[in-house]
Amino acid sequence: MKELTMQDLVAFCKTTGLIYPGSEIYGGLSNSWDYGPLGVELKNNIKAAWWRRFVQQEPNNVGLDSAIIANPKIWEASGHLSSFTDPLMDCRACKSRHRADKLIEEWVAAQEKQGKKIDAKSSEAMTDAEMEEFIKQNKIACPVCGKTEQFTPIRKFNLMFKTFIGVTEDAKSTVYLRPETCACIFTNFKNVLRSTRAKLPMGICQIGKSFRNEITPGNFIFRTREFEQMEMEFFCHPNDSEKFFTHYRKECMEFCKSIGLDPQKLRFRDHEKEELSFYSKATTDIEFNYPFGFSELWGIANRTNYDLTKHQQFSGEDLTYTDPFTNEKYIPYVIEPSVGVDRLLLAVLCSAYTVEELPDNDSRIVLKLNKNLAPIKVAVLPLSKKLEEKALQVYKTLSKTFRTQYDVTGSIGKRYRRQDEIGTPYCVTVDFDTETDNSVTVRDRDSMQQVRVKLDELEDWLTKNLK
Ligand code: ATP
Repeated sequence: MKELTMQDLVAFCKTTGLIYPGSEIYGGLSNSWDYGPLGVELKNNIKAAWWRRFVQQEPNNVGLDSAIIANPKIWEASGHLSSFTDPLMDCRACKSRHRADKLIEEWVAAQEKQGKKIDAKSSEAMTDAEMEEFIKQNKIACPVCGKTEQFTPIRKFNLMFKTFIGVTEDAKSTVYLRPETCACIFTNFKNVLRSTRAKLPMGICQIGKSFRNEITPGNFIFRTREFEQMEMEFFCHPNDSEKFFTHYRKECMEFCKSIGLDPQKLRFRDHEKEELSFYSKATTDIEFNYPFGFSELWGIANRTNYDLTKHQQFSGEDLTYTDPFTNEKYIPYVIEPSVGVDRLLLAVLCSAYTVEELPDNDSRIVLKLNKNLAPIKVAVLPLSKKLEEKALQVYKTLSKTFRTQYDVTGSIGKRYRRQDEIGTPYCVTVDFDTETDNSVTVRDRDSMQQVRVKLDELEDWLTKNLK
């Protein structure tokens, strides 16, 4: 089977109504994307699956939805104002801009693809001087113009989007769009403890938009400047942090598999000691093999008590926890699993997109989505326009329970293919026998098998089979 390319996927997403290029009628805005009628359903289903798994099914976890624009002191405390930067390099020859760490990462991956073993530490563990030297020594070329030794020294580029509140544009009114969702989880730690009377260990989870002025956005929805994250801060006793880190490292991988990501395309990448931030005890990335290679999907980190300690210091609020049984006072450690909704959705699409060969030199595209995630759960298709009245009745009944689509145009074969392409698990066909036997034909997306189901049993049948 031909390998799926990013170009194929972008075109497929546009024609099916999953994802459109942003601001298209105005000539677009680079690397911005709009989720279409099917994309928004898929995205909502992914978020709902995450919420079910990490909030609903964990007795100690709760949710939060905090503001995007927050007091800028938060970013001072978290270190984002001073050090949320990427190492920027310009190519003197063609004026293109690059991230030094990514230039190295991509060069190493290309060498290894050719079977060469590169004995170097990860670019994330290198200092700026080491990265400059590595690029020079290995004559890494500009990916745009191909020239070597034309890169400027590294400059630090802060990724936060700045804006202003109120009517004046001065330092006093400067605020930032949040570059991650978790900061306000820390600032609400005491509020949540007090209002829920929770005891540790406890997780606070949040889904929301984040903004980063990325130097090199690209690869479709993999790296954008506006994206959504699903993050959890799991607060626990310092002695338990390793246990919970191991637990969530495993749980996040299990979740990826449970929503249908191809296990062959998933791997862990444990960060080396030199790569870890000074406050982190351990970090693991779950990487996915996208059409452009393995890259980070989900980061799981043991951030120790760094964030709460910093917020305590900058806000003056006491953020210690007192154990109600032992009276021990301590600043909790946190385990932070953080994943991008858009990156997860991209991995879901890459895993589900299938071109299937059929007899007689025929083929079909099937989006083999996990039924839970499918944007449309069931399509109601009258075999003939004459059967519309009955079919619309079926549609009306089913749409109270399932996201249902009604389609009357084109041959039944074409309509089945359209539904296969968007991943609809079941097609319900109303035919000329329906009036007399009060039954419909239900066709399965994956096996293409058809069964006859009584109309008064249809809802239960679908509920059972959509599980
Ligand atoms: P990268 O090294 O790829 O820039 P990161 O290590 O900076 O990612 P984190 O700060 O750990 O990313 O963010 C947590 C998660 O948020 C990532 O694993 C990813 O899924 C998602 N994410 C981060 N930046 C972006 C982005 N620009 N576009 C889409 N998703 C993103």
